Amino acid sequence: MEIRLKKIMLARHYGFCMGVKRAIKIAEETGNTTDKGPVNVISEIVHNDSVVQKLAGEGVGTVAKVEGASVGTVIVSAHGQPPATFDTAKKRGLNIVDATCPLVINIHNIVKKLVNKDYHIIHFGDLHHDETRGVVGHIPEGRVDVIRTIDELRGLKPNGRKYALTSQTTAGVGDFEEISNEAKRLFPNLEVFNTICNATTQRQTAVMELAPDVEMVLVVGSKSSANSNRLKTISESVYGKAYLINFSTDFKDEWLDGIETVGITAGASTPDFLVEDVINRLVELSGGKAEVIRPEKKKRR
Ligand code: SF4
Repeated sequence: MEIRLKKIMLARHYGFCMGVKRAIKIAEETGNTTDKGPVNVISEIVHNDSVVQKLAGEGVGTVAKVEGASVGTVIVSAHGQPPATFDTAKKRGLNIVDATCPLVINIHNIVKKLVNKDYHIIHFGDLHHDETRGVVGHIPEGRVDVIRTIDELRGLKPNGRKYALTSQTTAGVGDFEEISNEAKRLFPNLEVFNTICNATTQRQTAVMELAPDVEMVLVVGSKSSANSNRLKTISESVYGKAYLINFSTDFKDEWLDGIETVGITAGASTPDFLVEDVINRLVELSGGKAEVIRPEKKKRR
């Protein structure tokens, strides 16, 4: 194996977004101030192991579902929850703190209005993800189809209602464009709502901007993070080589074989210190020779 690493380039936008920072702050403040018994986040506050572990150390635990909490306070994560979760929490006498990202609440409001106007909704997202489950929970049964692929879209049968298309905030920008073009063809009067959030769009655009300067991309993020996985998929399609790593220790030295330039990005739920750990590891592997190029101005949303 030959290590020839000369350059490490950071994407112009990476890491924590507005919604994640806000949710973590709410969780920390709740942990510090509540006098209403144990504090638990439903699912994970954001999909990042080190963030979840740090909060656990500060007394903010997690429960997989609201039914897992019998007393105290439950926090709804940045991804949101269906109304049924709030109802259950109330019935169980739990104190509820809502840290849902305002951009996710925006989707809830859009779908509620669409339902009132008699639309059937096609939602481009993943039903295994908290955010999509939360969105779907705001729509009456039989009035929404969740699709993940263009083939699933093509398999839908129009039911005579007006149709609208929405998206998970972390969907691929290019994928959504492809889905919406095909959906417009299949459902001629379709209303399209691009509900991919700014943070997602910025991070996806920024990682593509690293081309043609890098040969490989490292995405720092958790495997359970939808937007980190999306950044890896996009990077693979652009650069061929891309790896998703949670910690610097996940990096395998052989990935650097013959590589001179590496790009780095991070999902919206990844704290900066994890990115810095990866940079330090790479610089060390290069024998201190690699130059780290950081974007001049990094605005984060
Ligand atoms: S990724 Fe977007 S929708 Fe999700 S928390 Fe961040 S800003 Fe909000």
